[in-house]
Amino acid sequence: MTGPTLLFDLAAFRANVRSLAATAAPARCMIAVKANAYGHGMLPFALAAVEGGAEALAVLEVPAGLELRGAGLSVPLFAWLHGRDTDFGAAITADIELGVSSTAELEAVVAAAIAVGKPAGVHLKVDTGLHRNGASPEDWPGLVSAARDAELAGWLRIAGLWSHLADASPEDDAAALAEFQAAIAVAAGLGVENPFLHLAASSAGIREPEARFDQVRFGIAAYGISPFDDIDGRGLGLRPVMTFRAPVIAVADGRATVAAGSADGVPPSVLTASGCGAWVLLEGVRREVVDIHIDTLELDLGEGSAHIGDIATLFGPGDDGEPTAEEWAAWSGSIGDEIVARASTRAERVYRG
Ligand SMILES: *Cc1c(COP(=O)(O)O)cnc(C)c1O
Repeated sequence: MTGPTLLFDLAAFRANVRSLAATAAPARCMIAVKANAYGHGMLPFALAAVEGGAEALAVLEVPAGLELRGAGLSVPLFAWLHGRDTDFGAAITADIELGVSSTAELEAVVAAAIAVGKPAGVHLKVDTGLHRNGASPEDWPGLVSAARDAELAGWLRIAGLWSHLADASPEDDAAALAEFQAAIAVAAGLGVENPFLHLAASSAGIREPEARFDQVRFGIAAYGISPFDDIDGRGLGLRPVMTFRAPVIAVADGRATVAAGSADGVPPSVLTASGCGAWVLLEGVRREVVDIHIDTLELDLGEGSAHIGDIATLFGPGDDGEPTAEEWAAWSGSIGDEIVARASTRAERVYRG
């Protein structure tokens, strides 16, 4: 081992998915594998999610969905972030359900459905306060009516109504929930009866049973990282999936040089005034990080010693005293999602379990 290694525990991931699916039940468990499965690797984690009991997968963009279909996955797939060049026809042909936020987007989807001669499965999105996308409450009736017209014409199936919570505070979530209920009532008035409903991601899916509706879209929790700052993944009965290791490549003057640095996603902010230090497990002892370079970091060995080839664990599940990604997030003023998603893209990746 000469550079960083990322170890992925697929058995832990499947167990997390199983536990989250049980939490969500009877609501359907959708697992998000967007952003290359939060840096873990989309395809192996999509397969493991299905093995663990995910009934549907969220991919963000159509090309990722096409890749999963190409690899033989047959579960429901959901993509909702579209650009001007998104190939809706390919998505419809591949049975990828589409989140739609505006009448312009709806028109493009319907045109594609007509072109490929197959109705599109569409989930209409209402904005309930996040303001990222989704129809505003003012635009919502127009979007629903246009979708109903296309449904009656046979080019579209309203497969669901949905929104996304900001998770800023319980009060914000309660307000968003009320807005979602109002949007459902508006749609019912326009003839959308008994729609499939989904709102919650990891955080509301775990803590707010009334936000689960027909499906929870779990992301980060499935990777063993808590969506909350008052409890970690282990406290939620989840197991961190990613372990980040790198070897010692030099020892001198009471310091060990480890072959992982900022280019590998180690956040230098832990060493700035706002950071609060960082530690790495080396031969069973947590050693303080005293410097971070582009592709190395330095550990203070104190009175201890180290040898070239010793393996440092930057983060992992925490079983042997190594830090977790959540600890790095706290040390660097970041969130666990970012720590794992940025972890070494050049690292050797080892999947096991
Ligand atoms: C990322 C995402 C999720 C999953 O969010 P987590 O907080 O990681 O669980 C669910 N739904 C949408 C629309 C998302 O963008």
